[in-house]
Amino acid sequence: MPSNALLVTLGGIGDGPLPVADNEQYAADATKNYHGVPLAVMRPRTTSELVEIVRSCAAAEVSIVPRGGNSGLVGGAVPVDDEQSVVVSLEKMRTVRDIDLVSNTVTVEAGYLLVELQELASNNNRLFPLRHAGLSSQVGGNLSTNAGGTNVIRYGMARNLVLGLEVVLANGAVWNGLNRLPKDNTGYDLKQLFLGAEGTLGIITAAKLRLFPAPKLQRTAWIGVASCAAAVDLLSRCRTELDEFLSTFELMNRNAVERYLNGRRAPLAGSHEWHILVVVTATSDRIPLEETLLDVLAQANADGVVEDAVIAADDQQERTLWEIREGIPAALIEDPTCIKGDTGVAVGAVAEFVTVTDAGVRALLPDAEIVTFGHVGDGNIHYNVVRPDSMEPQEFAGYGSDIMRVIETTALDLGGTISAEHGLGQKKMRRFADVVAAEELDLMRLIKGALDPLGIMNPDKLVDMRVPQANAVPIQE
Ligand SMILES: Cc1cc2nc3c(=O)[nH]c(=O)nc-3n(C[C@H](O)[C@H](O)[C@H](O)COP(=O)(O)OP(=O)(O)OC[C@H]3O[C@@H](n4cnc5c(N)ncnc54)[C@H](O)[C@@H]3O)c2cc1C
Repeated sequence: MPSNALLVTLGGIGDGPLPVADNEQYAADATKNYHGVPLAVMRPRTTSELVEIVRSCAAAEVSIVPRGGNSGLVGGAVPVDDEQSVVVSLEKMRTVRDIDLVSNTVTVEAGYLLVELQELASNNNRLFPLRHAGLSSQVGGNLSTNAGGTNVIRYGMARNLVLGLEVVLANGAVWNGLNRLPKDNTGYDLKQLFLGAEGTLGIITAAKLRLFPAPKLQRTAWIGVASCAAAVDLLSRCRTELDEFLSTFELMNRNAVERYLNGRRAPLAGSHEWHILVVVTATSDRIPLEETLLDVLAQANADGVVEDAVIAADDQQERTLWEIREGIPAALIEDPTCIKGDTGVAVGAVAEFVTVTDAGVRALLPDAEIVTFGHVGDGNIHYNVVRPDSMEPQEFAGYGSDIMRVIETTALDLGGTISAEHGLGQKKMRRFADVVAAEELDLMRLIKGALDPLGIMNPDKLVDMRVPQANAVPIQE
């Protein structure tokens, strides 16, 4: 079906396509580095409307780009080419279908915002522990990118929080896998295919998610240390003494904190090369949380690991500490020239990763402003390089691929990954194809081909279907 006939068909589904003049706002991603004008933008209100949209696109062999809150950082939710794809935004699918406080589960539609879900849980004396600074993000987007964030050390990535999914497949069929139980060993765990698939295998329409008891006690500390190695040492001490209470252990270098503070008062008086935000929580207020944290910090200080530390005295101070941490990535997003890394290595290799990468980046660009922060408890460091004030954007852009190569190669040499939490999208699809084992890439291509034989689900994202299978193991034999 030619695209104008498809547009007529789409006009009869739900609210029909958005007026063309409004398409532009769906053409760019959060980083402003990726751009692609949609052929049409559809905003279904129900799963059955979405089914009709997908069936129509499949019949016309026109590709579909699912879109959540557009906070993704790898160009996943925008079309690769202009006027070739229908963008399907989940923003109107926002119903809370069920909340079960005995089973500690909630079932929401994909367009429900993460921040709304956190609030819903809190209003019911529960915790939904996924937390990150992508504030516009939706549940469907979080699950499709297997989002991480600042509580992964205790509760795991988004995929750990999912019991079941409802998904519209590439042929318009609906897989209802919502009514899954905590224990269910009946065959393949199909939901795992769609978690982290970045919309390349189907569109998540609803999810049954796990809730946790709300913490009654919480302490938040800001700590100054001299080196990345000292931070890893402190993490190990916290794990030994506070493991089941440790929710957050976030590392930031001096540049990251100073850049955010921009002259405002710092949490600690002195100057420290590295800063750490630690949060410990407990569901019983009889746990000596603060005392144990203080003991760990005092011993680490006596051993020369910690330079200085402060524990937030009240909610306001706690919020201020979080504003610094979460303001760092939010500020970097505003700078489209910033080179942004999302690598991961084993926790024990974090310090070496930073040292080797610093040396490599400085060899290329001695004036580079290196802004490093991340979830050190998961080995996920966001290594960013900001344009020196003295350098024109175009000149800096010339260093982009070499600097990114240093960051990623260092992580890979240490047995790490080029994407710990943001996914591959269009930004890293080709690079991933270069570095992944041939057998693994081939398996991914087989899965993609089986679930989306027409190749219409978010093409040219995540898995590079154009890579020749020269070295692939013949899986079907
Ligand atoms: C300031 C800032 C801080 C961030 N910090 C973190 C962090 O700490 N940890 C982290 O993991 N991420 C972080 N992110 C990235 C981002 O918030 C996550 O990737 C988020 O999970 C994306 O959700 P979204 O709804 O915005 O999805 P979008 O950006 O709209 O889409 C992301 C991908 O998912 C697909 N998709 C969206 N909805 C669906 C659906 N219903 N079904 C199928 N596919 C779908 C899209 O096609 C696209 O490929 C941050 C972003 C910002 C801007």
